[in-house]
Amino acid sequence: MSNKLQGVRGMNDLLPDEAERWEAFEEIVRDWLKSYGYRPIRTPIVEYTKLFSRGVGEHTDIVEKEMYSFEDRLNGEQLTMRPEGTASCVRSVIEHNLIFQNPQRLYYSGPMFRHERPQKGRYRQFHQVGVEALGFAGPDVDAEHIVMCRRLWDDLGLEDVSLELNSLGDASERAEHRQALIAYLERYQDQLDEDGRRRLHTNPLRVLDTKNPALQEIVEGAPRLLEYLGEESLKHFEAVQALLREAAVPYRINPRLVRGLDYYNRTVFEWTTTRLGAQATFCAGGRYDGLIEQLGGKAAPACGFAMGMERVMLMWQEGLDTGRLSSPDVYLVHQGDKAQPFAFRVGEEIRSAGFSAVFHCGGGSFKSQMKKADASGAAYAVIVGDDEAAAGKVSLKPLRDGGEQIAVTPEELVGLLADHLYGTDEQAG
Ligand code: ATP
Ligand code: MG
Repeated sequence: MSNKLQGVRGMNDLLPDEAERWEAFEEIVRDWLKSYGYRPIRTPIVEYTKLFSRGVGEHTDIVEKEMYSFEDRLNGEQLTMRPEGTASCVRSVIEHNLIFQNPQRLYYSGPMFRHERPQKGRYRQFHQVGVEALGFAGPDVDAEHIVMCRRLWDDLGLEDVSLELNSLGDASERAEHRQALIAYLERYQDQLDEDGRRRLHTNPLRVLDTKNPALQEIVEGAPRLLEYLGEESLKHFEAVQALLREAAVPYRINPRLVRGLDYYNRTVFEWTTTRLGAQATFCAGGRYDGLIEQLGGKAAPACGFAMGMERVMLMWQEGLDTGRLSSPDVYLVHQGDKAQPFAFRVGEEIRSAGFSAVFHCGGGSFKSQMKKADASGAAYAVIVGDDEAAAGKVSLKPLRDGGEQIAVTPEELVGLLADHLYGTDEQAG
């Protein structure tokens, strides 16, 4: 490695233009979650490794090859940077007895870590917003999750999104299908790839999830889990679909949709797009009724989903003007020994009144400071020289619509800003 320091491969910086768009996105997302009554939960980035081997599943891509796991040098504990959010959320809910009395609607948001090959829409540190409904058994919550996704895509104006839906049934239905699937796949053992052969007996359902085009024909002819569903599972699946039809959400049943994590049962779904190349799925989820008990809690049903923020941002930004999303109201230009502290104080008064102000640092002529004021995107320059400071006044100069520069007191200044920036005599709040 050269001497020049660089960020870690697959882990991105978000520079201000992009970080501002992320914040705008996060604001939309928070309002959307609130509108469905979901509440935030924040869990640590690092957990004991066994949480994920038990919670996500030993024979998954994540646990087999993608986790950032390490031993704590000081006490030898086996730790992992979280690769997903559901296991941590469930661990926390069990540990703090959160669903002891009431079901919970929760969400989380933050960085996840998976050692994958970085490419467009696939990174080693990426971000998810995840939603979990814990303690609800009925198909209405499954449908709520799908309908709320559709609302967010509408709010964001995303185009070209489609929904794929499947049901994985319950444990005994899966076991029966598994027998049939293993018997079928054994007939093609020689044609399977390395992953396929390895998973044939450990996790045969995952063979159906392969992205290897050479295996598509084999996968196509495999026994379908849907055909093994019993009455209860079918009823649940049908009820989810009825609510989706009611809400006019179009979907396609994809009998080969199995999801990469082990904990799912019954409803599974994925939102896909053709805009992201190979990274077609940008949001995925489903029901995981067994996980809470599997992680040591009292058995309770649950379902949830997670979206990849980078992938959603890539789609959202297609329709956005790029560049600055926010600019200050005022840029403070000043020159002179008396002007500087006066301008500094006026800046605080402007902010107390609810406006934003950038104080010029680093000196320079009025002319060069005015250039900086213009480049800042500010609506107004507030200009202070020693003469103004002595008179207790400032000059207010509109930068965008060519208005006149006028001399005013700081009190008049905040009144004028309120008039101009908020339209009326209404003070900013
Ligand atoms: P993929 O098949 O693309 O690897 P996955 O099944 O591993 O996805 P999930 O574990 O279901 O993904 O995670 C939910 C969402 O998180 C995905 O739909 C995707 O939008 C996002 N995601 C997963 N892995 C990455 C990654 N490495 N970089 C960016 N986003 C990711
Ligand atoms: Mg993956």
